[in-house]
Amino acid sequence: MECYNPAEAMDRARILELQAVRLKNTVYQATRAPFYRERLAREGIRIQDVATAEDIRKLPFTTKEDLRAQYPYGLLAVPLKHLVRLHASSGTTGSPTVIFHTAGDLNTWAELVARCMFMVGIRPNDVFQNMSGYGLFTGGLGIHYGAERLGCLTIPAGAGNSKRQIKLLQDFRVTAIHIIPSYALHLGTVFTSLDFDPKLLSLRIALIGAEPHTDATRKRIEDIYGLKAFNSYGLSEMNGPGVAFECGAQNGMHLWEDSYLAEIVDPETLEPVPDGQIGELVLTTLTREGMPIIRYRTRDLTRFLPGECPCGRQHRRIDRILGRADDMFIVKGVNIYPMQIENVLMSMPEVGQNYLIILEKKGFLDQVRVKVEIREEFFVEDMRVLSALQAKIASRLRDEILITPKVDLVEPNTLPSSEGKAVRVDDRRGLNGQ
Ligand code: ADP
Ligand code: ZN
Repeated sequence: MECYNPAEAMDRARILELQAVRLKNTVYQATRAPFYRERLAREGIRIQDVATAEDIRKLPFTTKEDLRAQYPYGLLAVPLKHLVRLHASSGTTGSPTVIFHTAGDLNTWAELVARCMFMVGIRPNDVFQNMSGYGLFTGGLGIHYGAERLGCLTIPAGAGNSKRQIKLLQDFRVTAIHIIPSYALHLGTVFTSLDFDPKLLSLRIALIGAEPHTDATRKRIEDIYGLKAFNSYGLSEMNGPGVAFECGAQNGMHLWEDSYLAEIVDPETLEPVPDGQIGELVLTTLTREGMPIIRYRTRDLTRFLPGECPCGRQHRRIDRILGRADDMFIVKGVNIYPMQIENVLMSMPEVGQNYLIILEKKGFLDQVRVKVEIREEFFVEDMRVLSALQAKIASRLRDEILITPKVDLVEPNTLPSSEGKAVRVDDRRGLNGQ
């Protein structure tokens, strides 16, 4: 195994040993923040109670609401003069949360991101274009500093402006990119409209993440650009990208357990679920100085993948994120995740690169409507052909989600597309006042 950082090659025993030491340090550091000092005192937890990684279970959870309530400075564990940067979450599910970093924190983070990039085969001679939004969002600067740390020529392209992205990709013979999956699909349609085959570019690797996506979506991205795409998971509360990352085996993401202590719990009982079972990912920072966070409830649903990874790394792997607990919607008593719908759609060659799920009320009944962009070549004049396709999509979706949705076929590039995280569900049920 070729490693960027020797920590990647640690065996389980060594990982657990290191976690025990770092967890104790984290708890100690956390008590310097007013929020944790009070909370740990209230729960009667003393530093000496934390001796092994297992002892994490004695500690209280931290939620997004806790972080919001401590806005702006309640979670700082160091004096302000030791801080050098702040980031904020995208605010997908409400007002953003703010995270502070010391110079040491930024250094550790850059090392983690560099480690991920090296793992998937990126080297200093790669030219790397970061198509993520810069600014408060961590996908910009987070990936940027990792790429520079690794030694790549790094292009801070930022999000959007597709024509300029394409020019940069072409002029500088870019070999590796970081891109949000829904934008990668959208950019593919821009290439098509320019009659330019993106396979002719020099691209060989894409890092894709920041939003849930399916394996079918990944395969599409790989086919459009002729590259390998690797899933990248992170969240601002845990720095940002660099928390878990796919290796060359492309079979689950290694979660860097020397830097984060991960648990997967039942969101109702908050008890750990057995390996292989889906639950809510809970993460604890193990190296952060400025703002340590203990048992953060990510709301992201995934599972630990059982078995060993052929790459030899023993940091446990998590499955691709099924979605956020908040993404689930219930229609006619059935729980549905947008990714179930995406999985069906993106596996069908007739389907184009975008879709939108609309939840509406018909009388007293909830109804799911799925607007689906169809590829140009399948958008024919013959109504019978289109109706047959509509029926086929509805029936495939019914097999997956157990209720029959209404399916509207629309032309390519007619649904709203986003430069940032895609909005997959438009819930109009409340608008009727029912
Ligand atoms: P926000 O929670 O406001 O979107 P962030 O920008 O910090 O703020 O985004 C982190 C969230 O993005 C994660 O909690 C997760 O829901 C989602 N996410 C990040 N990477 C991935 C990925 N590879 N797959 C699925 N979801 C992801
Ligand atoms: Zn692996």
